[in-house]
Amino acid sequence: MKLLSLIPHWHRWQDVVITRANAIAPNGRSYFSTHITARCRSCGQTLHRIHYRDISDAQARRWLG
Ligand SMILES: [Zn+2]
Repeated sequence: MKLLSLIPHWHRWQDVVITRANAIAPNGRSYFSTHITARCRSCGQTLHRIHYRDISDAQARRWLG
């Protein structure tokens, strides 16, 4: 583990992949959803998020912070 990962920081997401597919939401309904995966350049942490609606790539990237 790199020392950097122990220091609080704003994750710097890279390798952002945005895909869209149907997904079952926690409420049991199926939605055409936006899947976002990314990896932090500083600590290597990976992120997987599902937004249960179709959002644009720009919105998805903003959502990463
Ligand atoms: Zn990080």
